[in-house]
Amino acid sequence: MSFYSSLREQSHCFIIPVSWHEAGSHSRLVELEATLLLPKLLTRSHLCNSHTHARISSTDDTPKETRGDWESQDIFGGNDLQSGARRASGAVLAGVLRSHAVAPATSIIRKAAQHRAFSSAPRQLREKASFRETGSTAAAVDDTGSERNPSFADIAFAFDIDGVLYQGQKGIPGAKEMLQKIRQLGLRYVFLTNGGGAHENAKVASLAKRLGLENPEHVLKDRVILSHTPMRSWDEDVKKNGTVLVTASQPETARQLAREYGFQRAVTPADLLAANGHIYPFAHLRDSLHKESSPLPDGKSAAAISDPYSRVIPPDALKIDQILVWNDPRDWSLDIQVIHDLLVSYRGYPGTLSTKNGDRTLTDAGWQQDGQPGLWISNLDLVWKTEYPVNRFGTGAFLEALKGVWAAVTGGAAPLRYQALGKPSRRTYEYAHERLLRYDADVLGQGGTATRPLRRVYMIGDNPESDIRGANDFAPGDGAQWESILVRTGVFQPTLQEPEPRYKPTVIVDDVVDAVVWALRNEGMDVSRDWLLSK
Ligand SMILES: [Mg+2]
Repeated sequence: MSFYSSLREQSHCFIIPVSWHEAGSHSRLVELEATLLLPKLLTRSHLCNSHTHARISSTDDTPKETRGDWESQDIFGGNDLQSGARRASGAVLAGVLRSHAVAPATSIIRKAAQHRAFSSAPRQLREKASFRETGSTAAAVDDTGSERNPSFADIAFAFDIDGVLYQGQKGIPGAKEMLQKIRQLGLRYVFLTNGGGAHENAKVASLAKRLGLENPEHVLKDRVILSHTPMRSWDEDVKKNGTVLVTASQPETARQLAREYGFQRAVTPADLLAANGHIYPFAHLRDSLHKESSPLPDGKSAAAISDPYSRVIPPDALKIDQILVWNDPRDWSLDIQVIHDLLVSYRGYPGTLSTKNGDRTLTDAGWQQDGQPGLWISNLDLVWKTEYPVNRFGTGAFLEALKGVWAAVTGGAAPLRYQALGKPSRRTYEYAHERLLRYDADVLGQGGTATRPLRRVYMIGDNPESDIRGANDFAPGDGAQWESILVRTGVFQPTLQEPEPRYKPTVIVDDVVDAVVWALRNEGMDVSRDWLLSK
């Protein structure tokens, strides 16, 4: 019996719509099905059968035993993928699955006995980090007016939020008291999250609500750095003179935020759809999913071009200069379509096609070589932690889907060119480091341009791929040291397949309170959890 024949006899069967119309217009369904499939794929129960006319018809009888080997034809049957539309649908799912196959996202099996917090503290760091050996003697005054403990003068914390300070709607026990304490001590700290799609103050409000903080402005305000916050200091010329396409889970909110950041012309996919209904063929979604839209800026048109290869560009034709993928796009189908259109266009004019596409005499066979807009991804998190027991897809999953489509479109001739923000990108850590250096002026509101030196920053996070990797790789120019502390309250959960995090932190502890206790002990302070939580 063939491998696929045996699958058909199994009682559990996953149904996958494979036409673009069915799957592409319901991207969340694709996401859901990818999630459902993963445990089966990873446990080699695999999938069977299909929806309507799609049939598993591969002639390969050998089960794939290597998790990273799954390709679209493995899932849908290569002989069935005759149409480009079906191929694109398969590419989306294959892209996500390929990425998921190397992520610690499934088959969660906690270790039976977890180590207590401080058992794994590396000796060498404890020795080199003692304040009594290297610490500053400069006392200062904190924002509450009390004398700052000189031991803390040149250390700081960067806290991830989701999975560290709360899970879903629930605050991590002790997180509120810990934050209040370190503020009283005059410690510098910021919240460095890959979350986004909303204003920084909205994140402050949601964090305060989950933690039960009565005066969040004192503890949280001006300290939150979202994945796209570094764009506040982006090139002013782009902001003033350029046009950006911005997409997110709440595009209208993202547009308002982009304007607040200084982008004077921010367009959403829904704007393009409203300006030219032929951009996206699923009319029934225009009155629901994409009903919020605004006219295109400066009276521009998205329907001015009829010949994609004409280089006589009408003066009213819209031109997109940058593509900003902010957090967790909600409609992968429309967003991938629109982003694809711009990446294959002539200089960012929707409706055009570059004549360089596929020219193998050029770099990357001419793909993205004709003045197309830059593609910016606000974070690369494949998954994130909510109250649901299995991790949920994040912006990184959308990127993997886009990569899958791009590979299908280009025939694998060119990688997708993009720039990433958020952890673990260096840009984000540089921005956070600068904010900590300018803490007195920027956060405490003391004004001026003075900076205060840093000796060590502790990054506390739950995601090895972003929080830990980024801190480990970051070496700021001033010689300060970033250390990584991984907590067990979020994304990282040991599995049988991956008992250890791929990116090794300085130490692994149970939660954020233990993380701060460990850091302070590392600085030579004899502190306890009870002390940190006391008033
Ligand atoms: Mg997190």
